Amino acid sequence: MKITGITVVPLSDPVPPEKRHRNDMGTKVKSDSAIIVVDTDKGLRGMGAAMTSPSVVKAIVEDELGPDIVGMDPMYSELIYETLFNGSRTTPALAMGWSQPVAERRAGVYMEAIAGIDIAIWDVKAQAMGLPVYKALGAVRDSVRGYGSGGWAPGDEAEAELGGYAAKGFSAVKMRVIGRDGYSIEKARRRVEAARRGVGPNVEIMIDAHGALDVTNAVAVANALEDLKIAWFEEPVSPDDHPGQAQVRAATDIPIASGEREFTRYGFADLIRHDALDVAQPDVARAGGFTEIRRIAALTSAHQLRLAPHAWGNAVLFAASIHVAMSSPNCHILEVSQGYMPMMWELFGEEFDIRKDGTVHAPDRPGLGFTLRKGALERFKYVPGPESVW
Ligand SMILES: [Mg+2]
Repeated sequence: MKITGITVVPLSDPVPPEKRHRNDMGTKVKSDSAIIVVDTDKGLRGMGAAMTSPSVVKAIVEDELGPDIVGMDPMYSELIYETLFNGSRTTPALAMGWSQPVAERRAGVYMEAIAGIDIAIWDVKAQAMGLPVYKALGAVRDSVRGYGSGGWAPGDEAEAELGGYAAKGFSAVKMRVIGRDGYSIEKARRRVEAARRGVGPNVEIMIDAHGALDVTNAVAVANALEDLKIAWFEEPVSPDDHPGQAQVRAATDIPIASGEREFTRYGFADLIRHDALDVAQPDVARAGGFTEIRRIAALTSAHQLRLAPHAWGNAVLFAASIHVAMSSPNCHILEVSQGYMPMMWELFGEEFDIRKDGTVHAPDRPGLGFTLRKGALERFKYVPGPESVW
C-alpha cells in the first residue's frame, strides 16, 4: 500500500452571539480545526485532526510535510513519523539512533500538523487490518471512565452547572478556577463550594487554571481549596514554567495535572525531570499523534504517572482520544467536553457511545470508526480570523 496524497480541510464553527461569553481566554467567537485526509492506492482513506491555525496547517501539510511521505507505505508508521519529525535529517537520525529534528518541526503548528497526519496514518493502518485503531495499537479495555469538563459559571451558579454534569452520570467533573466572574481566591472558593454542593460528596472535582496564575497565587488558591477534596489542579501556572509548577506541587496535597500544551515526549520528559506532575494530559492532535502519545504513555507510566488525555476540539480528535484511552494502561479517565462544541457532536454520522454511568465506549468499527456526516464540511466551512477576542 502506498500513500497517494494528503490534503487538509480547514473548518470553522462560529459561536452564536447569545452563546458567547468572556472568560480568561477572552470571548470565543468561533472554534477552528482542520481535518487531514490521507489517501492510498488501495482506496483506503484516513482522517486526522489538527486543532489550531487550520489555514497554516493546510499550507504546512500540503506544501511541505505531505510531499515528504507520498509514496510511503502506511504500515511503516514509525518511519513516517520519524520522516515527518526529522525531515531532511531522517537518514542520519535513524543511522545514529537519536532524533535530529529540523528546527520548525520540533513543536508548534508543525508538530500539530505531524500529529494530525499520524492520526490519519493509523486510521488507514487499522482499516487495512480490519480492526479499530485501539485494537491495532493493542487494546487494554473497551470502555473508560469519562469526566464532564466545563464549569465557567460564576458564584453560586456553579452548583447547578456542575451538578448538571453529575446528573448526566459523570462520577468526575472539571471546572475552571477562573470563572465568568473573574479571579480572586474568594471567588474560586465560593464557586468550588457551590460545585461541591451540586455534585455531592462522592463525585470527584478537578480544577483547571489554564496556566493563568503565577506560583504565589496558584499555591494560595490550592491551599484555600484543599479541604474541598480536589482530585487534581490542572495547569496551575504557565506551561513554560515547569520549575514553577514543581513549586506548586511541592506546596499542596492536591495532585497536579498538565500537558495539554506540551509537544512530544521531550516536553513530558522535562515535566518529569522537574517533579512537576501527577497526571499527564497529552493531546493526541498536538503532542504527536498515536505514535508519539504511545511513547509518552510509556514514559509517564515508568514514573507511576497517570494519563488523562486532553480531548477538547472536534470529533476526529475525540475519536482518536478514545482509541488512546483504550490502548494506554495508565489512562484512568477521559475528558468529555460540556462546552458549546457542535464540531464534536455534529461532524460524524455515527454517535459517540457515552453511557448513563459516564463511561465512554470504543467503537467496534475498523480504523477510527467514524465517517463524516453528509453536509458537515459545508456546515463547518472555514471562516478566516481569530477564534477569540479580548
Ligand atoms: Mg485544560
